[in-house]
Amino acid sequence: MDFRSRQEMEAVRAEVRAVLSSVLPADWGGSGLLPMDVLPEHMGLARQLDMALAERGLLAPSFPPEYGGRGMGPYAHYALLEELGYHLAPRLTTIAVDLVGPVLLLYGSEEQRRQHLTRIAREGTIWSQGFSEPQAGSDLTSLQTTARRRDGCYVINGQKIWTSMAHQAEWIILLARTGPPESRGRGLSLFLVPAKAPGITISPIVDMTGAHMLNQVFFEDVEVPAENLVGEENRGWVYATTLLQHERGDAILVGQFRRLLDDLRSLLQSRYGRGKAPAAVRHALAQAEVELEVGRLLNLRVVDMAARGLPMDMEASVCKLFVSESFQRFTHVACAILGLWGLAREGKGSVLGGRVPYYLMASVPTTIIAGTSEVQRMIIATRGLGLPRS
Ligand SMILES: Cc1cc2nc3c(=O)[nH]c(=O)nc-3n(C[C@H](O)[C@H](O)[C@H](O)COP(=O)(O)OP(=O)(O)OC[C@H]3O[C@@H](n4cnc5c(N)ncnc54)[C@H](O)[C@@H]3O)c2cc1C
Repeated sequence: MDFRSRQEMEAVRAEVRAVLSSVLPADWGGSGLLPMDVLPEHMGLARQLDMALAERGLLAPSFPPEYGGRGMGPYAHYALLEELGYHLAPRLTTIAVDLVGPVLLLYGSEEQRRQHLTRIAREGTIWSQGFSEPQAGSDLTSLQTTARRRDGCYVINGQKIWTSMAHQAEWIILLARTGPPESRGRGLSLFLVPAKAPGITISPIVDMTGAHMLNQVFFEDVEVPAENLVGEENRGWVYATTLLQHERGDAILVGQFRRLLDDLRSLLQSRYGRGKAPAAVRHALAQAEVELEVGRLLNLRVVDMAARGLPMDMEASVCKLFVSESFQRFTHVACAILGLWGLAREGKGSVLGGRVPYYLMASVPTTIIAGTSEVQRMIIATRGLGLPRS
């Protein structure tokens, strides 16, 4: 693996920075921590940014040019995402570009690619991911939503939960059971479902930061044309695991981590004077710097494997586990360093735009989303280290 920053990475960083500075206000302090968690008052800006990136083929840069992308390689794509994270850019197309795109490129029909990838890359179509259910999160293969074949279509019945952005989405990538109830992973199929189809009801879940990104989605006799099935019936678990591996890259979080560390360091320098912060504070920031660098290198290992066409499994889990837990720890450290001074989310006493107390809460889901830390450890132990499951 080549640890040096490549020319292509530097070039894309410069290009993205130029786009971001042309759209985001100079004092931009971000919307939600998760880039797809865009506050209603920032939706217009997020859309403007999507269009500015789309004009340059940078909205879905890894898609092939015939689908509106640039065919950008994994290293440059990583640099782009890290840059978006550093500048706290809102990103409504996270699920569409990072999850739906790779799955359709690998397993979708040519018609599905033409219809969906081009629109994602050029218009920023918003997608949501309908996998988790009230009784099936970590144990996803036990999910109960059914899709029954009837007269050239599938009829969907069931319930999804924690469906990010379902209320804003045009499409849902849905995992449903087409096999018998006991078929587990062998009886699941993946579907492309219009989010506004008759029979779909979306109900909001407001999280502890006060934001509405999450939803419950109910399906009652929802008819989906048979051509919206991805790949083969009952092979959905294979496609879903590909999608989940793509969900475990953490380039954006690395960028956000870097930004918080940089901003905190600048604040402390102005407060104490250069090199004069208490030793405990200096040590805490040094520790964070080490963890951030390790997290960045773990990401680059995954990127390098992708660039060489190697399948990844445990490596994506190691990366996701380490970066999310390090970032969470750092939000606690930052809060402790700032003390009461840093607890105000807004108003006169707040510092760094109230980001630290907000991140303290908003980073909690980073060790749940895309598979909890326990699930990542289980993958590393079993599929990585070859240990028995129980
Ligand atoms: C902010 C956020 C956004 C999300 N967005 C989406 C989305 O867009 N689409 C979607 O489909 N889902 C989404 N999810 C759901 C997410 O994938 C699930 O929350 C996650 O997989 C955990 O499932 P669960 O909540 O059912 O918890 P459970 O699976 O019930 O787990 C509860 C606890 O038990 C532990 N546990 C479970 N099984 C084991 C085991 N075998 N060994 C050890 N410990 C275990 C878990 O680690 C956890 O601590 C989102 C979640 C969050 C927090």
